[in-house]
Amino acid sequence: MSSNRRPLKSLGQNFLVDQNIIDKIIATANIHPDEAVLEIGPGRGALTARLAERADRLLLIEFDHALAAYHSDRFKNKESVTVIDADVLKVDLAAVLSETPLKWNVVANLPYNISTEVLFRLLEVHHKLSRMTLMLQKEVGDRLAAPPNCSEYGVTTVLLGLWFDIRRNFIVPPGCFHPMPKVDSAILSFIPLSEPRAEVGNEHIFKCVVKAAFSMRRKTLSNCLKSAEYVRDVNLEQLLNSCGIDGQRRGETLSLEEFARLSLWLTENIPVSV
Ligand code: SAM
Repeated sequence: MSSNRRPLKSLGQNFLVDQNIIDKIIATANIHPDEAVLEIGPGRGALTARLAERADRLLLIEFDHALAAYHSDRFKNKESVTVIDADVLKVDLAAVLSETPLKWNVVANLPYNISTEVLFRLLEVHHKLSRMTLMLQKEVGDRLAAPPNCSEYGVTTVLLGLWFDIRRNFIVPPGCFHPMPKVDSAILSFIPLSEPRAEVGNEHIFKCVVKAAFSMRRKTLSNCLKSAEYVRDVNLEQLLNSCGIDGQRRGETLSLEEFARLSLWLTENIPVSV
């Protein structure tokens, strides 16, 4: 079985070919023997054998049937390796990751077109993770590590920031891949926090408030929030006053802690029937 068929653009197949970068990713992932490892999109296996050597258990999720079959065959005698031939966005990650009490160390060179969606899926299972080492488009990485009040700061920064310490490690230029992507990539580490960075009350409300605040970046916070889910059930002025936040500000100027205050107040004050 071969893994050398022409790369598929539709699946974001830019395979890593630079040994130095592969070594750096493995070192950054810092895999411990008592962790399970999840690799999303192993592709032609640039990282995979190195992960299989280190991990007590390795789970591969690959959407390209030919590549999934290649890995199933390659690791057929290695019991610690499991391959799921599926779209990671359709896999019930909470169920799959619950199959072992071990914490999961996630390593992935993510296909760019679904990276944000994958991040949100991984956020949902943060409590099952010990660490993530992810290759992302540099621009997406910049957004995740952005401070308030700049154009990169947005929904992903705040929602992921609630549960992870995020560190940008190094840039990976296009020449490290085959075929070469058009943009730079970045390796980021995500270290899950045992407690959320701030008390938000109901996390679904937190998510709704953050999304609404960034929904119209040129408008004021009051304008963005007034018809948002949950906020429309309370007195907006009372909400903002109680949280000490000026409604004339733009959403992008609020810190994670300020979003948390809004969410906590809403959790405690929305009518019970909501
Ligand atoms: N890890 C390999 C490497 O570093 O060379 C491949 C990385 S390549 C950027 C992305 C990989 O994700 C490809 O193997 C692709 O087939 C796979 N992929 C794309 N969409 C996927 C999806 N929805 N679910 C699972 N895997 C996917």
